[in-house]
Amino acid sequence: YANRLENHVALVTGSSSGIGLAIAEAMAGEGASVVVNYRSDEQAANALVERIKGNGGRSVAVKADVSEEEDVIRLFDETIAAFGRVDVVVSNAGIQKDAAIAEMTLQDWNTVIGVNLTGQFLCAREAVRRFRAQGREGAPARSKGTIIAMSSVHELIPWAGHINYASSKGGVRMFVQSLAQEVAAEGIRVNAIAPGAIKTPINKEAWETEDALEALLKLIPYGRIGEPQDVARAAVWLASDEADYVTGTTLFVDGGMSLYPEFRDNG
Ligand code: NAD
Repeated sequence: YANRLENHVALVTGSSSGIGLAIAEAMAGEGASVVVNYRSDEQAANALVERIKGNGGRSVAVKADVSEEEDVIRLFDETIAAFGRVDVVVSNAGIQKDAAIAEMTLQDWNTVIGVNLTGQFLCAREAVRRFRAQGREGAPARSKGTIIAMSSVHELIPWAGHINYASSKGGVRMFVQSLAQEVAAEGIRVNAIAPGAIKTPINKEAWETEDALEALLKLIPYGRIGEPQDVARAAVWLASDEADYVTGTTLFVDGGMSLYPEFRDNG
């Protein structure tokens, strides 16, 4: 560990599993105090907090639904109550509710947009308010604060049967670029990470059988499924001063999935 996030306070939404869990653990390993946000799995969140503490880190778990305004405000209140400030916000929470267009209910649509896009708005708005309110005294980073939104290759790649999800991630792309433009002069950095296929509970059916995995690997030029740690390393870098001149961009962590792999054998 290089302690690249020493004295930083990092809030990671949806971090009781998958990519968020790996990011929380990696940021704690780099010296950050980490708020583990969860929606329902208190046991998993507490287990992660205990593991971080066992490794000499600082962490608390906070329950909040990122699609609920009062929850998000309280999440930031509790972050500051626990650690005094907030420097890094990773808006990672996201869900899928897949259906073909004719079968998609309004609730399927609203729930996914509510978590994946409105959740980004609520967390980023609160992050900017808190970054502005806290002084530079004791600030650990060159930036005045940094936001990382968890997007997806589907901010770029259309996805039949997942129109709510793809629309939410396409929205995240423009959200990140517009917000980055709005707050850059204050020294606040805003970026997105676009993972490809990462082995987590969200996409279990895409990797849990051999046939499914084989079909998936055809879409990944690099030849392997991604691990949550692949994304966590990118998040640590984006959050750190090493990425101090990086804002308004999407970092694809996808083994080349967004490179139109079906054109490989088309020469
Ligand atoms: P995951 O299901 O393990 O993680 C999602 C987390 O978000 C869970 O812990 C869940 O409890 C939490 N969550 C859901 N709704 C919430 C809410 N309303 N409030 C707070 N927390 C909530 O899956 P994951 O793959 O780790 O997904 C993390 C993010 O990465 C998501 O935004 C997802 O869209 C994105 N992503 C994942 C992949 C992949 O291949 N796994 C690819 C691209 C993007």
